[in-house]
Amino acid sequence: MTRKIDLIVIHCSASINGVSLFTGKLGDADFCTPAQEIDKWHAARGFRRNPNWCERQEPTLAHIGYHFVIYTAGAVLACRHLDEVGAHVHGYNAASIGICMIGTDSYSAEQWYCLKILIENLRKAYPRARVVGHRDLSPDTDGDGIVEPQEWLKTCPGFDVAGWLRGGLQAPAGHIFNSGVLPAGVLPYAPTTGGVKNGGNP
Ligand SMILES: [Zn+2]
Repeated sequence: MTRKIDLIVIHCSASINGVSLFTGKLGDADFCTPAQEIDKWHAARGFRRNPNWCERQEPTLAHIGYHFVIYTAGAVLACRHLDEVGAHVHGYNAASIGICMIGTDSYSAEQWYCLKILIENLRKAYPRARVVGHRDLSPDTDGDGIVEPQEWLKTCPGFDVAGWLRGGLQAPAGHIFNSGVLPAGVLPYAPTTGGVKNGGNP
């Protein structure tokens, strides 16, 4: 690792809790993974990876701004290389790593487990880095030293990262996805036979 890392920033995809963002069926032309879906969003926002890095790691993701994406079913996908500057938090990209949880503020037990393991490993690799949520990097407009909810530019990642760290990286109550709360017609994160648009894994 050569890049200096001060911050590890947790984000969310701001998509429906529990919806995997897999579309299509494996092998079909319209099959799309959650990372490919986010890659399209970031392409639309004008993000573009350096071609040299892109060639070296995940060449099919030419735009995605994050270093990792954590899927609803509990997989960690490495996107940008750790030594590659990301595009995920205004003003802090140069010395940070960006992690995106699929969802908005409620994540599956598998996702919470993956986040715990990933953060534990990143803390070993970067012991001096601070772990924060995207919203914690909003400007402290009243200057009291605390970024309060009314100062958040975004709510991302939808949970209190500092509290989660204090709690020993255990899934916080109220933020554990329960498939019983999904909107009608939306499939849960658990693997399905596929072929469904905007919901369910292939
Ligand atoms: Zn964010």
